[in-house]
Amino acid sequence: MLTGTCLCGAVRWQIDSGVSRMTHCHCSMCRKAHGAPFGTYTDVEAKNFHWLSGEDAIVTYESSPGVVRSFCGRCGSVAPEPFADGTYAIPVGALNEDPGVKASAHIFASNKAPWHIIADDLEQHDGFPDPADNPTIERPAQESAGDGVLRGSCLCGDIAYEVTTPITAVYNCHCNRCQKARAAAHTTNGFTTADGVTFVRGEDKLVTFKLPGAKYFSQVFCSRCGSPMPRVSKERNVAVIPFGSLDDDPGMGADQHIFTGSKAPWYDIEDDLPQSVAMPD
Ligand SMILES: [Zn+2]
Ligand SMILES: [Zn+2]
Ligand SMILES: [Zn+2]
Repeated sequence: MLTGTCLCGAVRWQIDSGVSRMTHCHCSMCRKAHGAPFGTYTDVEAKNFHWLSGEDAIVTYESSPGVVRSFCGRCGSVAPEPFADGTYAIPVGALNEDPGVKASAHIFASNKAPWHIIADDLEQHDGFPDPADNPTIERPAQESAGDGVLRGSCLCGDIAYEVTTPITAVYNCHCNRCQKARAAAHTTNGFTTADGVTFVRGEDKLVTFKLPGAKYFSQVFCSRCGSPMPRVSKERNVAVIPFGSLDDDPGMGADQHIFTGSKAPWYDIEDDLPQSVAMPD
């Protein structure tokens, strides 16, 4: 048996079986929905899936015909998604236990973020392993206007922002909070100064969930589609940008992995970037 929860703990669920095949999905929709370089999913049969609590907290958004994205309306974590074929797509990052298996392939690898490097030697597919399963994907434009401005937006497009100051660090964060918040193996977040991020539309649709008991940890997300959005702290003069929400290529990827001491047991770091077990100095 396996269980999963969102960051705030409202949405809880249980899987009565184990899981078999897991894949890392690099499609542009997963990147925006998770605010991460990829989402990792496994499928379970509906008869083996049960909600334990918080079903009423779930908000759904149809990202393409027939593809419904689910997230916790309180904290923004991606939630399991029922498919028409009678299975549930489970975001592995939300699991509480080690499923005992690792991903076997990358899917939608040709849609991968330009700033993310796939360093392992798992199989790579341009869509789903069975092309018959491929949905129609609308890809956002990914060309920079070359004006030094980085543009980003949420999956539904209601919220858009611009970054006008240099990004000074980019971390792949493996802490437990980030795994839950993004329901992903890890986040890739860029850091700049608070005055560098401007919301050009939809700022009124932002929801901020502050984790009780945490000094700073908050998740900012779109109320309509759940996509993680930049978090701006005037007080600390920092803006944290979920790279999965970028439309433009920032021309840089992660500098290092942080909090590798709490890395997901089902994910291996295969690249050569420096690693810190907690925060770097
Ligand atoms: Zn939640
Ligand atoms: Zn995907
Ligand atoms: Zn949105």
